[in-house]
Amino acid sequence: MEIRIRNLSKDYFPEGRKIAALDQVDLNIPANRIFTLLGPSGCGKTTLLRCIVGLETPDKGEIAIGEEIVFSREKNIYVPPEKRGLGMVFQTYAIWPHMNVFDNVAYPLQARKLPKKEIVDKVAKALRFVQLEGFEKRPATKLSGGQQQRVALVRALVAEPKVILFDEPLSNLDAKLREETRKELRSFLSRLSITAVYVTHDQIEALSLSDTVAVMKNGRIVEMGTPWDIYFNSDQRFVADFIGRANIIEGKVKSAGEDFTLIDSAIGPIACQVKNEALPGKVVSVCIRPEFIRLLAGGQGEGQNIFRGHVESLVFVGDIYEGEIRIKDTSLSFQLEPTTKVKEGDEINLYFDPAHCSILFN
Ligand code: ADP
Ligand code: MG
Repeated sequence: MEIRIRNLSKDYFPEGRKIAALDQVDLNIPANRIFTLLGPSGCGKTTLLRCIVGLETPDKGEIAIGEEIVFSREKNIYVPPEKRGLGMVFQTYAIWPHMNVFDNVAYPLQARKLPKKEIVDKVAKALRFVQLEGFEKRPATKLSGGQQQRVALVRALVAEPKVILFDEPLSNLDAKLREETRKELRSFLSRLSITAVYVTHDQIEALSLSDTVAVMKNGRIVEMGTPWDIYFNSDQRFVADFIGRANIIEGKVKSAGEDFTLIDSAIGPIACQVKNEALPGKVVSVCIRPEFIRLLAGGQGEGQNIFRGHVESLVFVGDIYEGEIRIKDTSLSFQLEPTTKVKEGDEINLYFDPAHCSILFN
């Protein structure tokens, strides 16, 4: 079920101060895909989710779920949450500690007064789906964090909603469990073919889980695309900086050729493969990610996008060395294979692949 959001705004006035939590949001959330809202804390993600669910009333705009308008300020439409056909999983799992697994999962069906037999069947099927069959009688408090999260998930799914929404559902799990649950969730949601709206401030979660990512900043959607596009092709500084590790180097367009745009910067000219219009003289910055800075063997000296620098630090983190290199007065992050012979204090030559030097505006 597609969700269409038009011109949605919501202001808060804490202590008389105005905060535009949502600022004219226009958004189409595609049907039967995993869609993620990604952005720093306070950018409006939860507010947008609560508006979709109906727990918050926007000041302006319209929300449609499938063919049905569920909110419109102009048309004076407000469909209450329980009539919107949605399931929601919160950051705190909100499963009931005094109930066992069966009762937790059965609750939404009992609230709808379904026949007992049907409830038992549906709960059994749902629990099988998340590999919790046999746990029906287990008190909720006697489950691990990951199991509790799965109970919260099936409880949101058992009533077969058209759309399921998640607000940072993994943020209370430890790193390892978070990774496992993330993978489970991905395969689980893909099998269901349901519209999933997922909110997170964690870029790894967003990239690895989603079909589409929308990046939010200050109540606005600033970019939307596939995880790949968002990571590699953004021309916005905020997005490049927020997603992954990025070196951002200030500069000015020197010349714009057919194959390359040359940017004058503090470390020297940087050739960037042309992806966007950049006229000579324009102030821009260049983004190069650490994984695209390549170490050159001793003999390879000068040339386009080759820079000489001083290794300031080098830290072994398991699969790679993460380092800082100073080129003139600019420090950049880079990384090296664990087999490297390079040491802190060395002078080395590095190559920036122009295909991965992107020009950022604003
Ligand atoms: P996120 O989920 O991205 O962290 P929120 O949607 O929770 O962001 O909040 C967006 C902004 O609105 C923040 O500045 C937050 O402090 C403010 N805000 C959210 N809810 C309220 C509220 N009930 N009253 C006042 N301010 C709020
Ligand atoms: Mg939030």
